[in-house]
Amino acid sequence: MWILQKQVQSLRWCEEVESMPYETLYRRYRPKRFEEVVGQAHVVKALMNAIKLGRISHAYLFAGQRGTGKTTVARLLAKALNCAEGPTPEPCCVCDACKAIDSGGSMDVIELDAASHTKVEQIRELIVSKVAFMPAEMRYRVFIIDEAHMLSLSSFNALLKTLEEPPPHVVFVLATTDPHKIPPTIHSRCQRFDFRPIQPDLIAKRLSEILKLERDKGSVSADVTQDALMLIAKAASGSLRDALSMLEQLLLIGEGKVDAETVRTLLGMVSENMLAEIMSSIADGDVASCWRLVQEAVNEGKDLFQLVKDLMAFARELLACKIAEESAQGTETQDDGRGIRALCQRFSQQQLIGIVECLREVEKEMRMSEDLQLTLDIGLLRAICEARTEIGIRTEVELARDDIAQVPTETVSEAFEPAKEVMVSPANDDATKVKDETEDAGNNPSEEEHELKTLWGKVLERIKSEKFTTYALLQGSELTSICGNRLIVSVAHPFHKDCLEEPAVRRFVENVASSVLSMDCSISFVSCDEAKGVTAIAKHIGEATGMREAKLPFNTANESTPSVSEPKQTEKKQQEDSGDKLDRTITLLLRILDQPEAVENT
Ligand SMILES: [Zn+2]
Repeated sequence: MWILQKQVQSLRWCEEVESMPYETLYRRYRPKRFEEVVGQAHVVKALMNAIKLGRISHAYLFAGQRGTGKTTVARLLAKALNCAEGPTPEPCCVCDACKAIDSGGSMDVIELDAASHTKVEQIRELIVSKVAFMPAEMRYRVFIIDEAHMLSLSSFNALLKTLEEPPPHVVFVLATTDPHKIPPTIHSRCQRFDFRPIQPDLIAKRLSEILKLERDKGSVSADVTQDALMLIAKAASGSLRDALSMLEQLLLIGEGKVDAETVRTLLGMVSENMLAEIMSSIADGDVASCWRLVQEAVNEGKDLFQLVKDLMAFARELLACKIAEESAQGTETQDDGRGIRALCQRFSQQQLIGIVECLREVEKEMRMSEDLQLTLDIGLLRAICEARTEIGIRTEVELARDDIAQVPTETVSEAFEPAKEVMVSPANDDATKVKDETEDAGNNPSEEEHELKTLWGKVLERIKSEKFTTYALLQGSELTSICGNRLIVSVAHPFHKDCLEEPAVRRFVENVASSVLSMDCSISFVSCDEAKGVTAIAKHIGEATGMREAKLPFNTANESTPSVSEPKQTEKKQQEDSGDKLDRTITLLLRILDQPEAVENT
């Protein structure tokens, strides 16, 4: 509220003091000389050299993301070519030509936005018809075409004729964020320069300089901390223009201190406290807490895309801290008071790398997702699994995959036979450990769990009598839930899970299960952690939609005789619906867990 009042006050103040049209910071501080360009030294140096040596190309392609200075450099090039002192590597900025170009009033420097001039008639009128004439007042006629990739194909063709035989007094600059959309025929006639995203520290430095200039002029009185500037610089993702408009928005506050927290609030970023809490929940393996925090962010109207980005940046910062700490072993590293160091000690370096990679995947998936929150929830669940995965087990799985890849599918079970003794024992150990944990937690098996156990016991018995090697892989496995006709089976050891995923082995287990349960069923093998996740997701969906969990499709006690009391039609329908939704969720989860064959089977 206070901030809003302040904003209104300063807006009024702006109106009173500056009755002349307002010029944005970006325009006011647009570089007037090559040396002022931020973060594109490689481009600037090459262009200045070309001018010095008189090797001026007739067409340039400036490629790079928005806000990196493409149009600015194009104008500087126009100035350098047309300056009264020139052509000169650095324009004088005081001659008539320089001034005219700076003010945008030159007849010979023609800027057009291809996004609003896509039609071929417009290109003919604005460019092709003017090319033949000599410049009105300057040495070169410079055409700057912004967003050049937006031109239509016929426009490109019209342009191509000009580019094939350009008059000596004409220079084209095509600026684009999507260079791959420029036709190769055009591309090959241009000298290409790639504009890089500007590094955050360079952006922060420039913001600081501009702030000082504004403060000296007396137009800014706010005290913006270095942390706040760095946060803006990072949030701008390489675009100086975006950074400056964010700064501008902040300065509307007027007086007072602007710190990182103010920046977060004003720009709708998630607070660092919340990011730290989410990371801490990941370290605890606390799925419920992670999801609660996401829900809080949603309730506060935060942008979930921004949340993932912020979380990724935060995890990366933890990783950097971890690396710094490990390389400076023994010497005391200082905590910066944000608790970063304490938090990073809860993870291994490998875990943090895994989490960052996982979040990057989530961000990609969210672009294609219709339900952002669900995708993020599942992503965080995966991050938790990632954090729990020991590096040792992973390597073992990778080794096992290599082994399997070398063995023909048909002989997989036989191939593993000699190693039977060795493989069974760790599975047993793991299985007992898992059981102990469940008993310690005081979870008495419910009736439903008991039913599942009985069913799976029957399946295992049959498998044992038919193919002992497969049975060995399934020791310690549990049937954790049934969704429609899909059995979710948790496997004690990741290595065994990989072996069971082999199509021939899986088909065999599915056939036995189908015959024992007298229904056509498919099986998804999951690790213990994933099994917990599937159950948790089912519960989450149930809570979110107010649905009950899916019931078992049949009763084990009298599996052959039909049920005496048929459920009412509506109730049955509800069960089908909820089963359907759960099934879709699990399919989604499995797809995310990267089991393509499991998805194909549905
Ligand atoms: Zn000049």
